[in-house]
Amino acid sequence: MRMLFEHIPHLDRTKARLLGALQSNHIAHAQLFFGTEGSANLAMALAYATYLHCEQPTPQDACGTCAGCRKHQKLIHPDMHFVFPTATTKKVDSKPMSRDFIKDWRELVLQHPYFELVDWLAHIGANDKQGNISVEESREVVKTLSMKPFEANYKILLIWLPEMMNIQSANALLKVLEEPPPQTVFLLVSQDIKRMLATIISRVQMTQTPSFTDAEISSHLALQFKLSAQEAEQIAYLADGNMNRAYHLRYEGGKNDLHDWLRQWLREVYQASWAGCLAHAEAFDSWDRDAQRNLFVYFLNICRECLMWQASSKELLRVTGEQMRFIEGLAKTLPTEKLYELYPLLDTALYHLERNANTKLMFFDLSREIAALMRKK
Ligand SMILES: [Zn+2]
Repeated sequence: MRMLFEHIPHLDRTKARLLGALQSNHIAHAQLFFGTEGSANLAMALAYATYLHCEQPTPQDACGTCAGCRKHQKLIHPDMHFVFPTATTKKVDSKPMSRDFIKDWRELVLQHPYFELVDWLAHIGANDKQGNISVEESREVVKTLSMKPFEANYKILLIWLPEMMNIQSANALLKVLEEPPPQTVFLLVSQDIKRMLATIISRVQMTQTPSFTDAEISSHLALQFKLSAQEAEQIAYLADGNMNRAYHLRYEGGKNDLHDWLRQWLREVYQASWAGCLAHAEAFDSWDRDAQRNLFVYFLNICRECLMWQASSKELLRVTGEQMRFIEGLAKTLPTEKLYELYPLLDTALYHLERNANTKLMFFDLSREIAALMRKK
């Protein structure tokens, strides 16, 4: 994973706007990149930073080969500083600071820059913690920025998830933003600007990175992982605009045939074939938790599409071909009022799944309940 604009799929308008500002030398001293989880906000900030430190940038991108670019590709540029949420871990059992985790940070970012807070906390072994950016961290920032750049024109400080600052650290950051040290560029990367101080937001230039479309995700996946169009489309559909989720689905779930699976299972349910339902329950029980959850997410998505089909908003449907025929069939078997009864059943099943219930039994019970619903007059 490299750190150039060209490595971020699509989003051409966002890139063009940023590049336009850079080339006309409108370099805001504080930029806020915001977008939902799984968007390209971090990727965009990293590409922007690389561009700023590139020795021979072109109008479209950083060169990718100069010393500055090469250091950015490994996240080791001495004038590039990172601050992100931390928590105590086995390794760092008190006063955690970003610099204690910089190796972990490089590792994760270099895998792909679309990860979310939960992935980060899991990566540093703090799954059960909240994570935050402490006031000590903000003080450290002030110290770091008071130094001259080592080799570039600008020192860049990237703060990932500034919304994880408590009020004290946010106020400390505000003070630096109000009187920025010379030759310093702040890049704030947020997934939830509602939780940031309005006074901070008023000091930054905002760049929104829109969520990816299904087509953007599937074409990226097909290219990145050499997937068939059908596989890539199915993952994109489940990912729902979230590139991080798409990567997870690609790497972990391992069930790229959810659609076939759901169709075959519901056929057994429809025919009230209990032996078939039991076989499906046993198979389901052997899946890992992510794959199990994905099946339910997929099922819920399908229900949503059925509702839209019934409301005759067919142009809003996100599916085509075989999926479309399946949805038409299901929408006829489960009219709107029955779909509304199905939702709580799926919710309850998902609830039990998250709590390590007996998944085989849960799945079999659910089969019987759906069968009863289908037959109900
Ligand atoms: Zn370069």
